[in-house]
Amino acid sequence: MDLYEHQARELFAEHGIVVPRAEVTDSPKQAREIARGLGGRVVVKAQVKTGGRGKAGGVKIAADPAAAELTARQILGMDIKGHTVGTVMLAQPVDIAEEFYVSYVLDRAAGRFLAIASAEGGMDIEEVAATRPEAVARVPVDPAEGVTSATASRIAEAAGLPPQTVDVLVRLWDVLVREDALLVEVNPLVRTRDGRIMALDGKVTLDGNAVFRQARWGADDAEHDDPLEAAAAAKGLNYVKLDGEVGIIGNGAGLVMSTLDVVAGCGARPANFLDIGGGASAQIMADGLSVILSDPSVKSVFVNVFGGITACDAVADGIVRALDTVRLTKPLVVRLDGNNAARGRAILDEHRHPLVEQVSTMDGAASRAARLATTP
Ligand code: ADP
Ligand code: MG
Repeated sequence: MDLYEHQARELFAEHGIVVPRAEVTDSPKQAREIARGLGGRVVVKAQVKTGGRGKAGGVKIAADPAAAELTARQILGMDIKGHTVGTVMLAQPVDIAEEFYVSYVLDRAAGRFLAIASAEGGMDIEEVAATRPEAVARVPVDPAEGVTSATASRIAEAAGLPPQTVDVLVRLWDVLVREDALLVEVNPLVRTRDGRIMALDGKVTLDGNAVFRQARWGADDAEHDDPLEAAAAAKGLNYVKLDGEVGIIGNGAGLVMSTLDVVAGCGARPANFLDIGGGASAQIMADGLSVILSDPSVKSVFVNVFGGITACDAVADGIVRALDTVRLTKPLVVRLDGNNAARGRAILDEHRHPLVEQVSTMDGAASRAARLATTP
C-alpha cells in the first residue's frame, strides 16, 4: 500500500527528518488561508499516488495567498497519469542549493535491501539512471544489521552526498523498519542555501502484510484499487484482477497459480486470480462468482478444485447454491478432483445447468475454458 506524499512527510518528521512546514486541503478557499499561515509564498502540490507530478503540472509555486487559491483550484480535479487529484498540499518553499536522491528498497532476489543514492536527484533521476548509471550508487543493506552510521557513511560516500546526509540516511532506515515499509524514497533530498538537509518529497510503500499494524493510514483507499478488487477484499476474498478473458477460481494459491499457467499454455489469458482457500461454502462460491462475472472482460470461468481437506461434494454444493443467487451469464467449466470427487461431480450432473460443464482433468478443463473464451 502506497502512502500519499503528505503521509510520508508526516512519518519522516516523526523520525526526525527535517521537512518543510505544510498542510493539506481539498478546498481552494482554505488553500488561501493555509498559504497566509505559511507566510504567503507556497508550493502547491497535487496529492496523488504517482510520481512525476512536477512534470505533469501538479507542483506549482504560488507567490501569495490569492495565487495559492487560484493554483489549488487549477490542480484540484486534475488528472495525473489516471489519478484524479482530490487534495493538495501547500508547503513552504525552500531555497534549494542541491538536490539528491536516496531510497531503500527491498531486493527480493538477493534477500536483502538496497540503498540507492545519487547526488543528482530531482525530477530527472530516471534519465540520470538510464543514461549515466554510474551516477547512481547501489549499496546492499543486510536487513539484520540495518543502516548504522558506518553503513550510512559508505552510502553517502559512494553517491557523493555531503556528510550531513549520514544522519538522514540512518533515520530513513528507521522509517523503513519501524513503519513496516518495503520502500522509502526521498527525491529530492536537498541541501538548502543556508546549509540544511531537508526532504522535499517522499514516497513510502507499506508492506501489505503489516497493514493491520498500521491502522492509522486506514484500509487501502479506493482511489488506488481496482473497484472489483476492493469489492472482493470487502468480502474477504483473495482476488487479483488480471487483464485476460478466462476467470479463474481455485482452492489454494499454489493450485491457482498453476491454473494461470495452464490456461496461458492453452492460448488464453487469465482474467483474474481468485483463491477461495480451504473454505468453499456456497457463500464464498457465490461471492467469488459474482465478482468474476461482473468483470466485463471475462468470457468463460474455470473452477479448478482439488479436494483435500475441502471435500469436492461440499464445493459442488457451494456451486449449486451459488447458482441460486448469482445469475450465470458466461460458461462455467468445472474440474473436481481429489477428496469425494465422484460425489461432487454427481451433484453437478444432477443439477444440469446449461452453462455448466465438467471436465475431469486440469489440462482438459483449461483448454475447454480457453476455447470458450477465445472463440467468438
Ligand atoms: P514529483 O517528484 O512528483 O515531480 P516533487 O515533490 O519532487 O514532485 O516536486 C518536484 C520538484 O519541485 C522538486 O524536485 C523540487 O525541485 C521542487 N519542490 C518540491 N517541493 C518544494 C519546496 N517545498 N520548495 C521548493 N521546491 C520544491
Ligand atoms: Mg519527487
